[in-house]
Order: sequence, then C-alpha cells, then structure tokens
Amino acid sequence: MSTAPTREDAQRLDAADPLAAHAARFERAEGVVAYFDGNSLGRPVAGTAEEMARFVGHDWGSRLIRSWDEAWMGWPEETGDLVGSAALGAAPGQTVVADSTTVLLYKVLRALADHQVAVDPRRTELVLDTDNFPTDRYVAEGIAAERGLTLRWIDVDPAAGVTLEQVEEAVGPRTGVVLLSHVAYRSGWVADAGPITAAVHDAGGLVLWDTCHSAGSVPVHADDWRWDAAVGCDYKYLNGGPGAPAHAYLARRLHDLPTLRQPVQGWMGRRDPFLMEQGYVPAGGVRSLVSGTPPVVGMLPLRRALRMLQEAGIEQVREKSLRLTDLALQIVDAWPAELGVTVASPRERARRGGHLTLRHPDFREVNARLWERGVIPDFRAPDGLRLGLAPLSTTFVEVWDGLAAVREELGG
Ligand SMILES: *Cc1c(COP(=O)(O)O)cnc(C)c1O
Repeated sequence: MSTAPTREDAQRLDAADPLAAHAARFERAEGVVAYFDGNSLGRPVAGTAEEMARFVGHDWGSRLIRSWDEAWMGWPEETGDLVGSAALGAAPGQTVVADSTTVLLYKVLRALADHQVAVDPRRTELVLDTDNFPTDRYVAEGIAAERGLTLRWIDVDPAAGVTLEQVEEAVGPRTGVVLLSHVAYRSGWVADAGPITAAVHDAGGLVLWDTCHSAGSVPVHADDWRWDAAVGCDYKYLNGGPGAPAHAYLARRLHDLPTLRQPVQGWMGRRDPFLMEQGYVPAGGVRSLVSGTPPVVGMLPLRRALRMLQEAGIEQVREKSLRLTDLALQIVDAWPAELGVTVASPRERARRGGHLTLRHPDFREVNARLWERGVIPDFRAPDGLRLGLAPLSTTFVEVWDGLAAVREELGG
C-alpha cells in the first residue's frame, strides 16, 4: 500500500493540464460522473449536433446531389489524410475512410494474403495472436477457409501482449501476412510496432496492424516504422460516433501492384466510375480500397473530432494519457490488498496504452451497479473491468471520482 492520491491532487493535475480546455469542448453528459469507455465509444465533440443540422439543411438539403461533385466524392481520401496526419504518422495519399473495421480488415487482409501467395506460393500462413480482438480472429479464419491458407497462432499472456521474440519465432519462409493489434484491446499492451514490422519483413512477410486502440491515444509512426498496412476504428479514441466508418492505411510502395487487389471490386473504387464501363479497373492509389458509395453522414462527426485532435497534437495527448493512467494506478495501488483487485495491464509506461484493466471476481455485478450511478467503465469477461481513459475528454477528477465509486461498490 502506497500513499493514496487525494481528490485535491487530482484537481491540481486538472489545473495544470495543458489539454484541459479540450476536455471542456466535449458534450457534457447529464448524470455521468465518470466516463471510462472512451476507448469503446468516444464522446461527441461539442457542436457536432449543430454541424449535422447544417449539413442536413445545406449540404444535403439544398445542394442535394451537387454536393457529390462539390465535396463528398473525395471524402474517403480527404478524411483518410486527416486520420493519417492526426493519428497515424502517414504522409497523404495512403489512408482512406470507408466501411466498418471488420469489412476493411477483410478487404486489406485478403488483398495482402493473395499478393503474398501470388509472389511466392509457399507463403500460405496467416500469423496472429490468440488475444487478438474477436473480429480480427474471425476474419482471418474466414479468409484462411476461403483461400486455403493456414492460421498460425501466437499464444500471448492476456495481461500483457505479443512480444518481438514471439513474432520472430513464428515467422519464416511460409509467412504470408501477420495480423496484430498495435494496442491490445484487453490489457492495453503497446506492441513493439517498429521492430516487429522489421522482423516480419526480414522473414519476407507483410504486417497488417490493427489500430483500433492506438489511433488517437498512442502515437503511430506508420511511415517511419515502414508499416505495410493498418486498419482501425474511428469511433473509439477518434470520436467519430457509433458506427463511424473505419480507416485503412496502405503504404505507397504497395499501391497499384497487379497482384495486390482488394476483393470487393465496386464501382466507387473503379477508375472513372461515371463512365459506367465494362470491366473493373482499379482507381489507383488508396482509392482502390473503396468499394461502394462512401458513408458521408458517418464521416461528419469524425472530421470535426480529427481537427480537434490535430490541434491538440498526438504527442501531447499521449503525455496526458500516461498521466491519467499513472493516477489510476497510484489510486488502485493504494487500495488495501483485502479488496482483492489486481491490475491486468502493463505498468511500464512505454508498454501501457490508453486503458487499464482491473480484475476482481465481482466485477460483472459491480459494473452493472456503477452504470446505474453514472460511472461507466466496461466489463470484459471473465472478471475484467476496463477503464478507457480517453485522454482528450477525460479529467483527472473524473478518474478519482470514478475509482472512488469502484472501491465503494466493492465494499472497501
Ligand atoms: C473495436 C474493435 C473492432 C471493431 O470492429 P467493428 O467492425 O467496428 O465492429 C475490431 N478490432 C479491434 C481490435 C477492436 O478493438
């Protein structure tokens, strides 16, 4: 047991927070004491409702179909570039926003896997870890069945995550594509994304990184780390709203290869779509990842939130994120051992993402009671309470108040 931070300590941290003004620029939720689910569904940026109303009245309601030419047609790449610069460390022209995360994962993973086999027929293995998010595992299973590929599983510690050594051991002359999460959805473990990518490349493989839990909370340097591809959610730390279309990054060196084709060949990803010609010809560049009509309405809140992230700066956001999780760890570490709560997340700052998972056998029931009192973490079976401390929208006092409620519900 160490000295417990007081509520005044938390207030002091808020007063000294250079991003405090940003936290004040989110919609305040009636009756919510502490929102610890910004890693599942980020809060709306204030003014989103008004912007959507203007959109319905003007862009859609008055400009009507003319808006496609005036603006919308380019939104997948334009919004993609915003994600790329604000969150992914990606130079323009390599990121698009389109489809759900699951659909984009399918399109990009299959494109990469087919490419690998086309170049070298021995490369029939998809490598992934057992604690990857369910959708990632299921998509890989489906592609393996569809294309006659083999899944090679890396067994990881669910309280930590995949290591460089484990990846080095798993890859070789049969490796097609490695699919890993940059930040693990359960523990918050930050994978060694640069060195792992280099190790996979040395073995002749390609890597698809899932950025659902890193985009907007942990800096990504996709270009510098020589990433091949990434897919991630835009409704978590990027505050795009429920079901906001996801982002996909594809490194420029992989564009326009005749062997690298995404499988859903729709007209909006075709060259000159309005010529309505026979035969599919990819549009070229990252536009080729688009299939059908872009989900324009779903990009609207996201674009607003991305501009805010851009302005705050991802390095500053990361610094605040670490301070928030530092505070949460200090609070939990000061709880009496009899309370029975353990931490199932990395403690080392460099390994720690934007969320923490605590474990206790009663957390399922505790979580339900917390939600009733406006303290909103999420429960992850079998006994995990996940605290997603979205750095732009969460205050230090919120962390303190929320954890005080957790302790109280545990009878401590
Ligand atoms: C949230 C999440 C998803 C969700 O995929 P959707 O298609 O948006 O439902 C996928 N992968 C990871 C790692 C996630 O955290």
